[in-house]
Amino acid sequence: MRMKSQYLKQSQVVKCKVCNSPAIARIRYAKINLCSKHFSEFIERKVRRTIKRYKLINEGDKVLIAISGGKDSTALLTILAKLSKIDKFEVIPLHIDLGINEYSEKSKEAVLKLVNTLGMKLVSISLSKVLNTDIPTLARKLRRPTCSVCGVVKRYIINAVAKELKVNKVALGHNADDIIAYTFKAYITQNLESISKLGPKTESINDIAIGRIRPLYEVTEKETLIYVLTNNLPYLHEECPFVSLTSLEFKIKEMFGALESDMPGIKISYLRNLVKNLKFYPEPKTKLGRCKVCGLISSNDICSFCKLTKKALGFYGGPKIMEYIRNVILK
Ligand code: SF4
Ligand code: ZN
Ligand code: ZN
Repeated sequence: MRMKSQYLKQSQVVKCKVCNSPAIARIRYAKINLCSKHFSEFIERKVRRTIKRYKLINEGDKVLIAISGGKDSTALLTILAKLSKIDKFEVIPLHIDLGINEYSEKSKEAVLKLVNTLGMKLVSISLSKVLNTDIPTLARKLRRPTCSVCGVVKRYIINAVAKELKVNKVALGHNADDIIAYTFKAYITQNLESISKLGPKTESINDIAIGRIRPLYEVTEKETLIYVLTNNLPYLHEECPFVSLTSLEFKIKEMFGALESDMPGIKISYLRNLVKNLKFYPEPKTKLGRCKVCGLISSNDICSFCKLTKKALGFYGGPKIMEYIRNVILK
């Protein structure tokens, strides 16, 4: 339903602007209709332009991408795998099995199919294998919202893998709608310090933090969906059962979707202006150092992941994750 305005019905006789064959999508902000092939090329060019415009990836870079099997990370991995051959950089897909029942099973299945299709080697970490636990159990034991626990776990594992595999960039699957929702939420809650971190990239800090990049910065949610559908990519249609459709972020997406349909192009123009003004937002004041238990980035003596696992499981999870990466993944 939500993609109706851009993904054209087969019965509509609309021609591709480039080759005159039947169009599958209308790009309203660019006032063009495109067939499957030219739509895919349009999106891939857009991502490549974002990478060049904001200097996200250099030749020889090693880029880690965490993939969940959802449409955004599926599109991102597929596009970066293509671009890596042209622009000569390396892409490493990482999958974290969170143990969220059937959702995680299906997510793993979609990811495995995708990396096989792309002929890539997957780095995979399963919470149940390494720590003998899963996200719902951790959240229950800690009596914390599931997504907040999940966020700490995913960030930690991505950092740990990035450090041990010596990658120099971590690519995130955030699309244009995500960035708009995060920044608007930050305005509404007046958490202005988080906005300075929502640009197309955040730089590495010596060897403590590895830089994040967002190659889908100007690609909308509808566009990633059309991209995976039209390329028949294996992806997980279902959302995680813990996603909240009543969250503030979701409401902001709906509101901006309505604005875009009345004023095509407003999303891209908002994002371009945001990037120009990022320097005016306050930087977070937290001092970053190393966790004294596991050695990874932390704003306290002990990192959130080590604290969280100690409280829920009775042992520090950080060193176990590091040991698994060194002894199993790197062997
Ligand atoms: Fe984790 Fe929440 Fe995302 Fe599910 S919705 S994957 S629990 S952060
Ligand atoms: Zn065409
Ligand atoms: Zn730690």
